[in-house]
Amino acid sequence: MSRVITAKFGGTSLADASQIRKVAEIIKSNPERKYVVASAPGKRFPDDIKVTDLLYSCYSEFAKGNEYSGVLAKIKARYSDIISELGITFDIGAEIDTIEFELKKYPPADYLASRGEYLNSKIIAQFMGWPFVDAADVIFFDDTGIFDGAKTYPALGEKLKDLPNAIIPGFYGSTPDGRIKTFSRGGSDITGSIVARSVNADLYENWTDVSGMLSADPRIVDRPKPIDYITYTELRELSYMGASVLHEDAVFPVRKAGIPVNIRNTNSPDDNGTLIAASMPKDVKRSPVTGIAGRKGFTSIRVEKSQMNGQTGFGARLLYIFSRNGVPFEHCPTGIDTISVVVNGSMFDAKRDDILREIKNELSPDFITIEKNLAVIAVVGEGMVSARGTAAKIFGALADSGVNIRMIDQGSDELNIIIGVDESDYETAIKALYTAMIQK
Ligand code: ASP
Repeated sequence: MSRVITAKFGGTSLADASQIRKVAEIIKSNPERKYVVASAPGKRFPDDIKVTDLLYSCYSEFAKGNEYSGVLAKIKARYSDIISELGITFDIGAEIDTIEFELKKYPPADYLASRGEYLNSKIIAQFMGWPFVDAADVIFFDDTGIFDGAKTYPALGEKLKDLPNAIIPGFYGSTPDGRIKTFSRGGSDITGSIVARSVNADLYENWTDVSGMLSADPRIVDRPKPIDYITYTELRELSYMGASVLHEDAVFPVRKAGIPVNIRNTNSPDDNGTLIAASMPKDVKRSPVTGIAGRKGFTSIRVEKSQMNGQTGFGARLLYIFSRNGVPFEHCPTGIDTISVVVNGSMFDAKRDDILREIKNELSPDFITIEKNLAVIAVVGEGMVSARGTAAKIFGALADSGVNIRMIDQGSDELNIIIGVDESDYETAIKALYTAMIQK
């Protein structure tokens, strides 16, 4: 049996006719690329506006009762340019008329926002002579607006089974009452993952404008090394800390089905990109640290009480106070008589008085110390468990560059070491860690 690849192309990959031509070449160069998910046209140059953003602003003018025809005309012009440059016959006027008519029937922004991928996919399908499958007919949400996998996977699999190939718009599906609903922004990645799972693809290719994930933030580190291989778990850790090339929710459908994801660059199709998989091929040699990422804006609330370790439920009650106040905790390093709860700084500020009062009343601690302006850095890599001396190198590198470590937390899966530093030390710390652990 031949292999099946589901390929998703992002907005910059499909921003204009010349990009669409590149994409068509990429698709045709490998007959295994059978099912293609398309985004709406993205930015052609840095100050350009994505079609999806135009659609949202068109909706907001419409909802306010303002004149929206100017924005709608801009959207129409984007597609008219694509159509004429591709040299196809496509009645964009009729499509826009339908959209305008339907818009008045379907109040939420979702319908209009989804039309970016709808139109782009129809145009690409026509250009390539491939069947177009409307996501509204095969991707379903339940009554509460949650993606309905139980209904979608079999229906989509059934639909695609009989098609040798298809173009499917990303970003949206439909609810049981027949309305269009979108995923969150960047959601075409999720559609691609769902399609890959429905056809039990061998590979999910996610084509974008970078040659994969980088091992550190390029705004801080000069030309960081790209990541060739990464596991889903490592990806989850790094994405959570802000290093993202893939929508967070896109990982789940393929991960569950054991389908690897390959991040590729439409503008540099010969690059291998980053391969994301559950585990790595044995012959692949990876360094103990896969990537480094971090975020600023945390606050640590350190609660101290002598003999705390003898009290059952102290930690549970402490965390419950945070959850009751709607402030989720991010990290929770503990000592014998101390627990620190690391939370998002602005969420904590909004509830600060209540939380502190409740801690004092309910737990009678000896001290509460609040440390603001904390940056949290994750050093991530599955190889760290078996590589001796990794922690020593990490802390040595920080000490050598004069960074004061304010918190350490090792994830229980031994996949990451989390380090809290002062926000003012954040960039220095990332650079030092990159040099010591990745660049070497
Ligand atoms: N076009 C949508 C957005 O801009 C979805 C996507 O591109 O993935 O968010």
